[in-house]
Amino acid sequence: MSNPTLQAVRGMNDILPDEAGLWLWFEDVVRDWLESYGYRNIRMPLLEPTALFKRAIGEVTDIVEKEMYSFEDALNGDHLTLRPEGTASCVRAVLQHNLLYNAPQRLWYAGPMFRHERPQKGRYRQFHQFGVEALGFAGPDIDAEMILMCARLWKKLGIRDVTLQINTLGDTAARQRHREKLIAYFEQHKDALDADATRRLHSNPLRILDSKNPAMQDIIAGAPKLMDELDEEALQHFAAVQEILNRHDIAFEINTRLVRGLDYYNRTVFEWVTTRLGAQGTICAGGRFDGLIEQIGGKPQPACGFAMGIERLLALLQEDGMASPPAPLDVYVVHQGELAGAMATVLAEQLRDAGLKVLLHCGGGSFKSQMKKADGSNAACAVIIGDDEACAGMVKLKPLRGGEQLQLAPGELSDKINELVKG
Ligand code: ATP
Ligand code: MG
Repeated sequence: MSNPTLQAVRGMNDILPDEAGLWLWFEDVVRDWLESYGYRNIRMPLLEPTALFKRAIGEVTDIVEKEMYSFEDALNGDHLTLRPEGTASCVRAVLQHNLLYNAPQRLWYAGPMFRHERPQKGRYRQFHQFGVEALGFAGPDIDAEMILMCARLWKKLGIRDVTLQINTLGDTAARQRHREKLIAYFEQHKDALDADATRRLHSNPLRILDSKNPAMQDIIAGAPKLMDELDEEALQHFAAVQEILNRHDIAFEINTRLVRGLDYYNRTVFEWVTTRLGAQGTICAGGRFDGLIEQIGGKPQPACGFAMGIERLLALLQEDGMASPPAPLDVYVVHQGELAGAMATVLAEQLRDAGLKVLLHCGGGSFKSQMKKADGSNAACAVIIGDDEACAGMVKLKPLRGGEQLQLAPGELSDKINELVKG
C-alpha cells in the first residue's frame, strides 16, 4: 500500500499520464475550434491583486465571500488571490496593455482556477477552464455566435444530452427596479427564508432566486419577475439572440431563474447543462457583461464571454467510454553491447530527424527483456542492434504488429519504418 507522507492539497488533483492523454487530445480539438472562429490566445498570471476580484465579481457573491484563496504576501504585505475565474484577469490585462484601443478583441485562455469549495465529483479546489471573451462587441450577433460555437464543439466532441438554458438579466435600471420589488416581496415572506437568503436579502436578493433549498421553492416561484421590468432595448436584444438560434436550429429553454453566480452579467446569460453528472451538471456558462470593463477602470465597452469546466466535460466524455488515446510511438530501439549502444543513440536521433517518434531503450537488460518492453509499447516496430550488427553496419527491423523481420542498412531504415507506420 502506498502511503506517502506528503499528499496533494485536498480538492487539488494530479492528472496522471494515463488520463493526461485525453486532456491533450481535448486541448487540441478545442484549439482548432477556437481558431476556426478567429479567437486569439491570451495568458494571464494565476495570482492577481485581491481587489481585482472584489471589484469585478462583487463583494457579496459566493466566490468573493467564501471561495477565494486570498493571502497577504509575507514579503511586502500585498493582498493577493489565486484567480477563481479568468474574466476579471483577462479584462485587467486587456486594459493594462490598451488592447481595446480602436479594435474589439476576441480572446481565449485556459488553465487552472482556484475556489475553496467542498470537494466532490465535478467540484474541485483547483479545476480547469477554457474561457472565451469577446470584448468591445455590443450586438446580439456575438451572443448568438458564442452559443453556436458551443454547439459546434459539442458536436466535434461527440457530446450529446446537453441542453441550453438562456435568460436575460436586462440592464441596470431594470435590475434596480426588480431588486427593490424583490426585497419588498421577500420581506413580506421573511419567515420562509433560510439563513443564506436572509443574509442576502439586502445585499444580493437576486441570488435568493438561485437557491436550491426545496423549502423555499414556492416562495421563489411567486417572486416578482425581472422579465416584467425589462426595457424595450434589452427585450429586442434578447429576441434577436433567439432569432439567430432558431435560424440555426439550436434548441433552447428560457429559464427565468438563471441568474449566474457572478455580479457582472447583464442581458444575455446562458448555461449548457447535462443531467448525467449529478448535481454538478453545468459544463459551460456565460453571458454578457457590458459594465465590467468600466468597473475595472476602463472606458465603458460592451463585452460577452463564457467558460467551460474541463473536468466536467472530460467526465462526460468518460461516461461515454472515451479513454485516453495511446501515447503515439513509432519505434522502440533495442540494443546490447557498447558499440551497439553508441550506434543506437545516433540512429535514434536520425530517425527523429526523419519525423519519427522514437523511444530509445535505456537501462540495459537482455534482448529478451528489452523485446518484452518493445512489445508492450505502442510502437509499430522495433529496431534491434547488437554488437555483431554494429560491426557489420547493419540493423534489424522487426514489425511489432505482424510481418517479417528485415536486415537493413541504417540509411534505409527511416523510409522502411515510414512505410510500416503508415501502412
Ligand atoms: P456552479 O454553479 O457549478 O458552482 P459556477 O456558476 O460557480 O458553477 P462559473 O464560475 O460560471 O461556475 O464557471 C464556469 C464553469 O466552470 C462551470 O460551469 C463549471 O463547469 C466549472 N466549474 C466552476 N466551479 C468549479 C469547480 N469548483 N470544480 C470544477 N469545475 C467548476
Ligand atoms: Mg460555484
